[in-house]
Amino acid sequence: MSRGESTSPPVIIGGGMAGIAAAVALAERGLRPVLLESRPYLGGRVRSFIHAGTGDEIDNGQHLMMGCYRSTFRLLETLGTRGLVAIDPTLRVEFRDADGSVDILSAPTSLPSPLDVLTGMLRLKKLSVAERLALARLGARLAISSPMERETVSVYLRRLGQSERACARLWDPIVIATLNTPPGIASARLFATVMRRAFLGRGDDSHLAFPLTGLSRLIEPAERYITERGGRVITGATVERVQGEAGAFRIRLKDDEMLATGHLIVAVPARAIPRIMGDIPVAIAAAGEALASAPIVSLYLWYDTPLAHLPKFAALIGTNVQWMFNRRRITGERNDRHPGLLSCTISAAFEESAAVGEDIAVMADRELRGAFPEIGPARLLDTLVIKEKHATFAATPDAEALRPTARTALPGLYLAGDWTATSLPATIEGAAQSGYAAADSLLADIG
Ligand SMILES: Cc1cc2nc3c(=O)[nH]c(=O)nc-3n(C[C@H](O)[C@H](O)[C@H](O)COP(=O)(O)OP(=O)(O)OC[C@H]3O[C@@H](n4cnc5c(N)ncnc54)[C@H](O)[C@@H]3O)c2cc1C
Repeated sequence: MSRGESTSPPVIIGGGMAGIAAAVALAERGLRPVLLESRPYLGGRVRSFIHAGTGDEIDNGQHLMMGCYRSTFRLLETLGTRGLVAIDPTLRVEFRDADGSVDILSAPTSLPSPLDVLTGMLRLKKLSVAERLALARLGARLAISSPMERETVSVYLRRLGQSERACARLWDPIVIATLNTPPGIASARLFATVMRRAFLGRGDDSHLAFPLTGLSRLIEPAERYITERGGRVITGATVERVQGEAGAFRIRLKDDEMLATGHLIVAVPARAIPRIMGDIPVAIAAAGEALASAPIVSLYLWYDTPLAHLPKFAALIGTNVQWMFNRRRITGERNDRHPGLLSCTISAAFEESAAVGEDIAVMADRELRGAFPEIGPARLLDTLVIKEKHATFAATPDAEALRPTARTALPGLYLAGDWTATSLPATIEGAAQSGYAAADSLLADIG
């Protein structure tokens, strides 16, 4: 790598989805980027690994995508892994109460968006006719007006006539799953943007999309893609400090190696910025220092029967566990010694992330058996609880005001990451979109 000259290749710090998208976009344009990642692998929060106890490939937490994840699918197309994610042909979500009773949101494929989703809402049988009509009115309202700037989701939903029951049974699970933030503090504007993107777009934008393999496989070809185009991927490379000024940055790695570049994309989580960018005030100011984290607790529960008769996934109402994913049905993988594998998510898990893992697993098994009596006598064989304290930023109105754009005030310095101003919550899509936005700004600046 050239050191110090202004023609040095662009450097990207952070090899999560954002940094990968940026590096791939620059490599595609022949810029020979250098991607620095502190861990021994790429992917950041998108990661799978082999579980020692069962031999199953599992993720750091179940990830769900949607048909509207355009930047993500663009990246996966480029990497040749688009086929590893399947968009459901219909929008159908099963809601299970703690006692096992069922309600289903099923959007007819014969209708165009958003009439399909609105019809699906009107079919929810555990809400009164008045509540269902209020849901449909809210759907129509989303299309024409935006919530107020500092409004929270709860205030917004109540203002638009949503009953407590409609919030508990439909909106709250959707808000917590998409924003990883309790509705009482979540940004209504961000929520409305997500709803619009999913439900007012084209046909399958609102459909759920499931990775069919471990998450790491989705981005596995990235390193080869970048290096085949003359770029470099350096894992195990922790950046300690960035110094410099417009168009001339010096990057000090943990082993004291120094790199220099005129164009730098910083794609690390917001909370990592002050430590490495402390000498560049403009980056600190842009980093939204006050962005708070929100945790997610993910669980894997292995059973001694295949559980193929349970739904592929379902929302749980009135329980601590919020979503259940029937992993074997999603991936089609088998494991004869551990036939059944359910993965569960608890988002905005502020309490659960402080609890003892074993206790959470026992609670989840109990709640699953209540919500899915079909589990019957299946015996629980093994469990794994993964707590991600910094899973995402908390998507509050305050956070929205702090999120910076890709281009900073310092020429040559760009920011990427799910926390930057994408107008999306912290998601794979937000991260990929931010990486492309940083690469586009850089490409536009060098002309
Ligand atoms: C449990 C869980 C469940 C989730 N579920 C979903 C979901 O269902 N759907 C969805 O769309 N999204 C989901 N997300 C969110 C999604 O995973 C993230 O928004 C996205 O992966 C963030 O990508 P990123 O590139 O912005 O950040 P990261 O993935 O955090 O990447 C940043 C990278 O920077 C590296 N780094 C940090 N400091 C340095 C340094 N000093 N030097 C070098 N490298 C450094 C880190 O090691 C990391 O690899 C979930 C997240 C979690 C944790």
